[in-house]
Amino acid sequence: MPASVLDSSIEYLKGVGPLRADMLKKELNIFTFRDLLEHFPFRHIDKTKVNLIGEISPQTEYVQVAGKLVDIGVLGEKRGKRLVAYLKDKSGTLELTWFQGINWVQKSLQPGQDYLVYGKTGFFNGRPQITHPELELLAGVKADGKAFLEPIYPTTEKLKARGITGRQIGKFTSALLPLLSERELPENLPASMLEKLKLPSRFQSFCNVHFPRSQQDYDAAVRRLKFEELFVAQVSLALVRMERHRFSRGVKFEKVGELFNTFYNTALPFELTGAQKRVLKEIRNDTARGRQMNRLLQGDVGSGKTIVALLSMLMAADNGFQSCLMAPTEILAQQHYAGLSSLLKDMPVEIKLLTGSTKAAERRKVLAALAEGSLHMVVGTHAVIEDAVQFANLGLAIVDEQHRFGVAQRARLWKKAPIPPHVLVMTATPIPRTLAMTAYGDLDYSVMDELPPGRQPITTVHRNEMQRAGVMDFIRAEIAKGRQAYIIYPLIEESEKLSYEDLMQGYEQVKSFFPEPKYRISMVHGRQPAEQKDVNMQRFVTGDTHIMVSTTVIEVGVNVPNASVMVIESTEKFGLSQLHQLRGRVGRGAEKSFCILLTGSKVSNDARERIKIMCATNDGFKIAEKDLELRGPGDIEGTKQSGMLNFKLASLVNDKQILESAKIFAGQLLDNDPDLSSADNLPLKNYLLARKGKTAWSKIS
Ligand code: ADP
Ligand code: MG
Repeated sequence: MPASVLDSSIEYLKGVGPLRADMLKKELNIFTFRDLLEHFPFRHIDKTKVNLIGEISPQTEYVQVAGKLVDIGVLGEKRGKRLVAYLKDKSGTLELTWFQGINWVQKSLQPGQDYLVYGKTGFFNGRPQITHPELELLAGVKADGKAFLEPIYPTTEKLKARGITGRQIGKFTSALLPLLSERELPENLPASMLEKLKLPSRFQSFCNVHFPRSQQDYDAAVRRLKFEELFVAQVSLALVRMERHRFSRGVKFEKVGELFNTFYNTALPFELTGAQKRVLKEIRNDTARGRQMNRLLQGDVGSGKTIVALLSMLMAADNGFQSCLMAPTEILAQQHYAGLSSLLKDMPVEIKLLTGSTKAAERRKVLAALAEGSLHMVVGTHAVIEDAVQFANLGLAIVDEQHRFGVAQRARLWKKAPIPPHVLVMTATPIPRTLAMTAYGDLDYSVMDELPPGRQPITTVHRNEMQRAGVMDFIRAEIAKGRQAYIIYPLIEESEKLSYEDLMQGYEQVKSFFPEPKYRISMVHGRQPAEQKDVNMQRFVTGDTHIMVSTTVIEVGVNVPNASVMVIESTEKFGLSQLHQLRGRVGRGAEKSFCILLTGSKVSNDARERIKIMCATNDGFKIAEKDLELRGPGDIEGTKQSGMLNFKLASLVNDKQILESAKIFAGQLLDNDPDLSSADNLPLKNYLLARKGKTAWSKIS
């Protein structure tokens, strides 16, 4: 394909040149004509609509006014130095201020001339004011005489100070658009789809997103471009998934056999929930096909993922395959091991624990048994997939309480068997559906959105420092009823020392409220040797200690059904998903459970919002949605690296409907034409081929 004009370097665009090009590159990552085309305006202003300065109130956000520029001068010194000018119209005076590029701006301003000024208003000492306004000579505006909406682009303070204002960027795009035609921006969606969805063409949409003639034109253009982004993402992800299905060989679990059935009928301590049964069926179908399973299991805390893991491991054993279960922490691995081996105690199944702290002699034994095949299951940390560990025939690897199983880890797993084992990744906390659809859209995906029956919802309350004594009284009352309590301190990553001191102080304080020998307290933290951690944990698990004082090492997975109180210290330091995880440590038995969120007396608005959500709902999926709204997709755990969420226009928070429809259309299209070989789908195919290599779709795991 001949190089497109869109690939030209930005300095060659009329009006830009090398100097401004440099700034555009540095400040806005605009390197080419295409980058500029995809730098979308954040609003449009109607040049015919000019406000009066006298109308500006503290509630006004953005304003466009016209008037005479007077009294330009530099005030202040050093860091307080600023350029100030005044704009006068018949109704009042507006102060304009610049902190950057003072010399340059001062030179470019013409005192006594009429200007059109646009910007975000502020109020100081009761007077309206705009910092770093957009402004242009009114005479020039009138000569232009354009009636349509003028685009205003995101820019930076630095650029503004050098004259590259949000408005000036519009001059660049208006120089760019006439150079483009359908040839540079060919349609990539099937004609039938455009018709059905009543979407404008691609070329037209790019024109109208920058220079619409009406609000309707603009809205339609944005809708189309958002749909395109999300649709292309869905098709790409589905293609990755299909390719994997088509080409990946996997071990075949021919049957559901005796071990599974015996366990199910005689040892399973409860009836499975509908969601658990459904997911097991999905796993059963996946593993029976002779292609490798690569499945993500999303389940809220306490939804019962562990038993799904165990039943899947029994399926593997029934078919003569080994399996492993990997947990993120040593404590969790130990607990899984203890739980699973007790469930399996009457079954002819060999299961062992393997972690970093497994003693050398035991480790040798486990490794030998794995290599010769006499060991069916191994539970551990990621030590399980170190190179030294060889399996006779690994058929299933389960990763617990993580979002993602990295490429490197996966590659290690591939080395363990001639045919790659099936992989089941069980998430730590739910993520919103929109995120799952995009960030993990290449994986097969199961949801467990049902808790086992008989759970009572956890009551969550917010208490401050002053109410601590009352909180301790409450714990005392619960202990008197035979229950146990967790008290959790935050782990501050930047300062391990500080968190350690916090924890120790907290421990002393708890001891003073709960004196020995009447009360017994366990403490677990990251600095303890593994054995000590283990002993303390075990004492709490068996009910010997009443209170567990701990940092967040306890966060994931730990299961002590008798514990009914979770106290979280310095709640403001925790994120929503972490709080939800921590709270999930209680409410696991039949007893009513409580979560108490302790804070200082002053709490930031953000923290207050998080606390409000925690007190309002126990539903991890809802909390995840809120988390996404509050923080945006970039920060959600496990999705940072994926690069997948860098949509230019679409937002996973605001464009759910468009995403759903994009997913449906992508699914239908690929069902009917998986190779994209029909004439209608050829433009899409060409587009995807041209994009290949430019994006990271194929690199994710
Ligand atoms: P998570 O999904 O958070 O890993 P677990 O697997 O630890 O949840 O299960 C939480 C608790 O629920 C455990 O005590 C487990 O034994 C119990 N449980 C799991 N499934 C069921 C069920 N179908 N009925 C009753 N209790 C269940
Ligand atoms: Mg778990």
